[in-house]
Amino acid sequence: MDYRETEEQKMIREVAHKFAQNEIKPASMEYDHKPDARDTYPWALLKKASKLGLRTMSIPAEYGGGGINDLTTMMLVVEELGYGDNGFAASIRHTIGLSAWMNALCTREQKDEFFPQIVNDDTFVTAYAGTEPNSGTDNAMMSEVPGAGMQTYAEKAGDEYIINGAKHFISNGGIAKLLLVSARTDRKLPLSQCRSVFLVPSGTPGLTVGKHHNKLGRRLINSGQLFFDNMRVPARYMVRRETDAAKFQSFLIPATMIGTFRDAYDELVAYCKVRIQGGKPIIRHQLVAAEISSMRVKIEAARALLYRQAWCWQNQYEYDSQLTLLIRPMLNQITGHMAYQIQELCGAPGVDREMRFEKLSRDLLTMVHGPSTYAGFVRGAPGYLPQTELNG
Ligand SMILES: Cc1cc2nc3c(=O)[nH]c(=O)nc-3n(C[C@H](O)[C@H](O)[C@H](O)COP(=O)(O)OP(=O)(O)OC[C@H]3O[C@@H](n4cnc5c(N)ncnc54)[C@H](O)[C@@H]3O)c2cc1C
Repeated sequence: MDYRETEEQKMIREVAHKFAQNEIKPASMEYDHKPDARDTYPWALLKKASKLGLRTMSIPAEYGGGGINDLTTMMLVVEELGYGDNGFAASIRHTIGLSAWMNALCTREQKDEFFPQIVNDDTFVTAYAGTEPNSGTDNAMMSEVPGAGMQTYAEKAGDEYIINGAKHFISNGGIAKLLLVSARTDRKLPLSQCRSVFLVPSGTPGLTVGKHHNKLGRRLINSGQLFFDNMRVPARYMVRRETDAAKFQSFLIPATMIGTFRDAYDELVAYCKVRIQGGKPIIRHQLVAAEISSMRVKIEAARALLYRQAWCWQNQYEYDSQLTLLIRPMLNQITGHMAYQIQELCGAPGVDREMRFEKLSRDLLTMVHGPSTYAGFVRGAPGYLPQTELNG
């Protein structure tokens, strides 16, 4: 396995890193502190990311996008964006990952209709709507149980589908100009056999955006509540059943988290070098140094596993999908540990809203979501068998 970056990867990663360091980081606290969740989205940063070509990097060049189809390159970019702000990085990541997903699964006609719109509008972001108020983890864990999990239902009516249901906590959900809505097309079959995605432009009659969830952390990404009330979608907007292409997100989400770990680690080391107690910088106290080293090892080990798994998947080389499932819960454990260490090592300033550590702690804790640690470890366990009946 070759760990060297290509010239193209190096160049685009540096663009993303500079943007994160010089533009995202300095602006992120101000947005984060806005009390109303409708005001926390950084439109100015989105426009800058668009000008740099980051938002559209995975759209084929023939549509005016960056033409990057390589997963590792996408991971390097979203990792660097995560170094600036995890919420905003997630907003761009969704658009990058979903565009790659569309490129893999959409028809020529669908791409011809939507890719130019995404490319030509600097404020165009996309969202994936899967989670429902009564079905979060169940969408994954109960996908083999007849009728269980997701209840949003798409019924065929002539050359249209009529969709009814509700979603919540959808990243970019309240601001996206194109929603990829996951729905079942049969009420009784297991979800794994009847789950489809529908391309739903904002403004489609029957689509309503509810509240913008006011979150603990990752406040820079909009989290929307969506309602579908007899929403009519042309049958040509249906995308083939979800397949392995969704794997893009399994790697891109953790890559963004690694970027935020690196950010938190760098900030913490810098602080421990200047904070003097006991007559020396606290990093010179052995127990503190040991904690910092242990954090570093965890981040590097997680990063190495993540990129190795991505490489194996891309190259179809001894790919172990169970191991990939274990990455998210492992990162969630690191997340909790890092948030604790920030609070432990920073002392009182760690809880000061004027310090970046306070925001980082909230952002880290907000990453701990699904398929979160418990269900994630269950799914990734060797020999795991999907549930096939209720209460089974
Ligand atoms: C910031 C943020 C962004 C998000 N973005 C999106 C998005 O863009 N699109 C989208 O569709 N969703 C999104 N979500 C929703 C996310 O996918 C869900 O939160 C996640 O699927 C978990 O569902 P839940 O919150 O309903 O928790 P629950 O499913 O209620 O889980 C609660 C707890 O029970 C455990 N648990 C559940 N079932 C089992 C089981 N069978 N075995 C063992 N343990 C179990 C879980 O591990 C968890 O610890 C987002 C959430 C957040 C917080």
